[in-house]
Amino acid sequence: AISLRGISKAFGTQTPVLRNVDLEIGADEFCVFLGPSGCGKSTLLRIIAGLEDPSAGDIVIGGQRVNEVPPAERGIAMVFQSYALFPHMSVAENMGFGLKLARVSKAEIERRVLDAARVLQLEALLDRKPKALSGGQRQRVAIGRAIVREPGVFLFDEPLSNLDATLRGQTRVEIARVHRRFAGSSAVYVTHDQIEAMTLADKIVLLRSSRDGADLDSIAQVGAPLELYHSPANLFVAGFIGAPR
Ligand code: ATP
Ligand code: MG
Repeated sequence: AISLRGISKAFGTQTPVLRNVDLEIGADEFCVFLGPSGCGKSTLLRIIAGLEDPSAGDIVIGGQRVNEVPPAERGIAMVFQSYALFPHMSVAENMGFGLKLARVSKAEIERRVLDAARVLQLEALLDRKPKALSGGQRQRVAIGRAIVREPGVFLFDEPLSNLDATLRGQTRVEIARVHRRFAGSSAVYVTHDQIEAMTLADKIVLLRSSRDGADLDSIAQVGAPLELYHSPANLFVAGFIGAPR
């Protein structure tokens, strides 16, 4: 589980990007950060990951305050929009590489890579090099690389935005399956795609740009997908949800 308590973030002397984010994400929960471009979704994800420090507030993961804990020790795995696979390594080697660095035994690496490949339907492709894969397959390898670390928290930053519509739909299904497979892990998924948010989320956190108003908190509404749809908390939510974009 993740708790964010009073998180704010300003870069230099600019208007703060994030204001007063209070949020609980359960240990089994799939949470989606949704909101317009520039509202601070990636920044909030990076703060959870430890790649960015908050200006104020606490990050608590699994009951422990992690503000001073370095990213590699937070028990998280992150998947980005652009994935850099090692071109000279096979799919299996790409997926296992981080574990090898962490000195996990060869047998254990093999077990985890096979398990991940099964969940992501990459079993037949384990010996291929990245250049012999489609974009969607490559992104699944990138997800596999995160899975094999068996993290307590999965962080996704628009992992599907480089894929075409068909592949986006398919890979969305894979991600939901990955999350079910890792019962007990929290997932936070950033997107500005409402369909993605509606289909994947247990809980949607709709963020708005803090530049829209001098004292607005960043979170416009938190709720189940249908809750935001049927009972928007304010005009911003009503205008954002369901609007064509
Ligand atoms: P998008 O949907 O376009 O990815 P986002 O919601 O992820 O947008 P962020 O990337 O979190 O938005 O950025 C939020 C704001 O913070 C933007 O105005 C951005 O320019 C600013 N910002 C992000 N990182 C930095 C930085 N390192 N230094 C200064 N400003 C930054
Ligand atoms: Mg972003």
